[in-house]
Parts: sequence; structure tokens; C-alpha cells
Amino acid sequence: MKVVVIGAGVVGTACAWYLAQEGHEVTVVDRREAAGLETSFANGGQVSPCHAEPWANPAVIPKVLKWLGREDAPLLFRWRRWDPALWAWGLRFLANCTAARAAVNTERTLRVALYSRLCLQQLRAETGIQYDQKTKGILHIYRDGGEFAHACAAAELMRRHGLKRLAQSPVECVAIEPALAAVASELAGGIFTPDDESGDAHKFTTGLAALAAAKGVAFRWSVPVSGLVRDGDRVAGLATETGTIAADAYVLAAGCDSPLLARPLGLRLPIVPAKGYSITVPVAGHSGAPSVSITDDEHKMVYSRLGDRLRAAGTAEMTGHDRTLNPRRLAMIQDHARRLFPDGGDFDRAEPWAGLRPVTPDSVPLLGATPLANLWLNTGHGTLGWTMACGSGRLVAALVSGRRPEIDLGGLGLHRKR
Ligand SMILES: Cc1cc2nc3c(=O)[nH]c(=O)nc-3n(C[C@H](O)[C@H](O)[C@H](O)COP(=O)(O)OP(=O)(O)OC[C@H]3O[C@@H](n4cnc5c(N)ncnc54)[C@H](O)[C@@H]3O)c2cc1C
Repeated sequence: MKVVVIGAGVVGTACAWYLAQEGHEVTVVDRREAAGLETSFANGGQVSPCHAEPWANPAVIPKVLKWLGREDAPLLFRWRRWDPALWAWGLRFLANCTAARAAVNTERTLRVALYSRLCLQQLRAETGIQYDQKTKGILHIYRDGGEFAHACAAAELMRRHGLKRLAQSPVECVAIEPALAAVASELAGGIFTPDDESGDAHKFTTGLAALAAAKGVAFRWSVPVSGLVRDGDRVAGLATETGTIAADAYVLAAGCDSPLLARPLGLRLPIVPAKGYSITVPVAGHSGAPSVSITDDEHKMVYSRLGDRLRAAGTAEMTGHDRTLNPRRLAMIQDHARRLFPDGGDFDRAEPWAGLRPVTPDSVPLLGATPLANLWLNTGHGTLGWTMACGSGRLVAALVSGRRPEIDLGGLGLHRKR
């Protein structure tokens, strides 16, 4: 079967790989000149089922109210304009802020994330792909005793769903990652997920695209898709400046742009962009960079060692499709990174970046069928697109092929019950 994937981010590229494994004739179409140049470019690097707790949870509302109007807020809403889709998303987000909904959404995300981690490990073993990966686990650190207690309760829920999470004292945190020694006295504790991983999502995406191309996947670069052409209950092709690209099946993996392409077909995808920032810091000549991936819960920051670089990433700004770098928010990230790892690298030579996470109101991606018989969704991965890319790709490839996916897809589709 001829299958076209729209989008060569980490999600679309992984999907193309698994579609090719299923024996399909695959073409990937992207407006950019190479793979992984948008949100998959310089993210936090964590392959982190341990982050499956959704943004929408009972604790978030008081926090957002406390942060309102603060430019240094880890989560900043700039919803001044009237945008019905944005406000509809906001209402659905609020409806998901109960403990019961958060538990359901955690399980759904964790199901995909744990499966995906296995798929990634298998793919790595089969292909030998290298992307500055580290398999040393992820350590969440907490400074506030109350937050740590809340995290221990959430860890218990995740343990029940099969994720190994270990509560650690400050001394144990430093034993896991000695680069935390400078802040040991500030810590209330940590939670260590030994089976989680980290690595450079962009390196992975370009490496996998090369492997896929060698297997016959065609990549069409610098081809913006202006729309999907509908014929009854099917998609007949992709409209581009150079003509229509036709196939038997289509996978929409266009990140934050997926709703814009779906909307003219009558499909409303509840995805909004949440801008995040990162800096990439050279570590040569510095001895204080961590080698275990770290999550600093208070500042909503993550740190991953990518070979001779330290990646620090975080914060979220709801400000539409605007990708400009806000100097204040970048300075804030620099500041957090420097304080946590004073000798972590040459911060004066840090490379700044901002990307747009495709976020759903329940933090669960949109995977699977649509009302159009040959259009499939693989989008809306929010904060965990790198974590869930391989699993999502393999699941959607199975669906497109008419095979039963290896895990239950209940609650992951477009028309999921809340
Ligand atoms: C600061 C930050 C830190 C993060 N940290 C982590 C982390 O540690 N771990 C983790 O798992 N996730 C993390 N994420 C989230 C992760 O990066 C995203 O979920 C993931 O990159 C989304 O991948 P994607 O392929 O869906 O989207 P993208 O990478 O944005 O790819 C979409 C592709 O579609 C193409 N496209 C869009 N529209 C069109 C069109 N009309 N025509 C042609 N092509 C089109 C784009 O050019 C792009 O290449 C982070 C995100 C940010 C911003």
C-alpha cells in the first residue's frame, strides 16, 4: 500500500520507519529541508515515562493562579486574543483537572510511554542507531517537602501501572548524581526512575530518517502541504505548490500544525502550542555536568547530558504559534541551570532555542482512526513526543496495516470519552 506521512519530526519519522517495516511504500512530506527541525530539534532529551502525570491535575490550578502575571512563571498563559479553539481547549483542560481524570490520563499516557520505551530499545538493538543516548535513569529532585510527598503518592500510582520509581533521600540523590552536591542541602528528596533514558531526539530523528531512506522510504523536503483534498469519506491527496501527492493512506504527524490541516476536513483536533525553551551548553573543560538525566520539579526544568553537551530545557508559554525567543525566559533558564550545576559547562556559549509542544487538554496523544477512512492521526504528543514516538509509530503502523496493535488503544483516539 502507498502511505504518505505528513511531518518528519520524531513522531512522523518513527512512524515512517515502522510503516516501511510493515512492507508499505512510504513517502514522508515535510515543509522543512531536513528531518527534525521543528519541535523535535532541541528538546529536553528525556525518554521519560516517569513524566506521565498530566499537566491537568488538581494541583495545577492553584499554581497557575499563583503564577498569573509573572513573567518568570514556569507555566505562562498569554490568552489575550479571542480564539474560540483556544478557549474550548482551556475549558477541556479545566475539566481534566480532577484527581479521577488525572489518574485515567496518567494510565493512558504511561501505557504508550512504557510500550514506546521498549520499542526504542528494540530499534536500537536492531539498528545500532546512536544519538548520544544514556540509559542511566532519570532523577526528579524536590526542594519542597509537600511537593515531594505529593510526588511520592503519584509514584505509587505509577508503580501500580508498572513503572519503577524509587524515593530517595538527599544523600542518595547525590550518590546517584554527584554533580548535585552543590545543592544537596536544599533538597527535600528525589524520585529515581532507573529504567528511563535520555538522548538527542534530533540526532535520533535524522539517523532514523537515513536508515528509513536506505530501506526505500522517500522523503520530500521543502514541500509545504497546504491542505488535504477530500473525496467523500476519504482523503484523495495532499495539495502542494507542485501538485497533488496521492496515496492509499495518510498519517497526519504535523505536530502543532495538525489541527490547521485537519480543520478544513471538519476535524477539530484539540491541540494547542505550548512554547518551551532550551539551551545547549558545551561541557568540555568543566567537571560539574550531570551524566544522569535530572528533572527539577520546582522550576519545571529538565537536564540531559548529550555527549559533550548539556541540554537544559523547560517552561511553557501559551502564546499561539509564536516561536520568538523571549530573552527574559531564556535568561531564567540559564539562571536555573547555572545555579543547579555551577560548573556544568560554558554557559556563555549556550545555544538558545524555542519549540512548540503540541499539547492536548488531557496530555494524552491522539492516535488512530478518523471519520475519513484512510486518514490516521499520530499527533498531540505534548511534553512527551520523544518519549512516545517509537511506540506511537509502531501502533499507528499496525492500524494502517489492518493489524491488531500490540497494546490496547482504548482512550487514545480522537473520539475518546473524556
Ligand atoms: C522545551 C521542550 C522540551 C521538551 N522536552 C522533551 C523531553 O525531554 N522528552 C520528550 O519526550 N519530549 C519533550 N518535548 C516534546 C517533544 O519535543 C515533542 O512532543 C515532539 O518533538 C513532537 O514531535 P512531532 O514530530 O509531533 O512534531 P515536530 O517535531 O514539530 O514535527 C512536525 C513536522 O511537521 C512538519 N509540518 C507541519 N506542518 C506541515 C505542513 N503543512 N506541510 C509540511 N510539513 C509540515 C514540520 O515541518 C515538522 O517537521 C519537549 C518540547 C519542548 C518544546
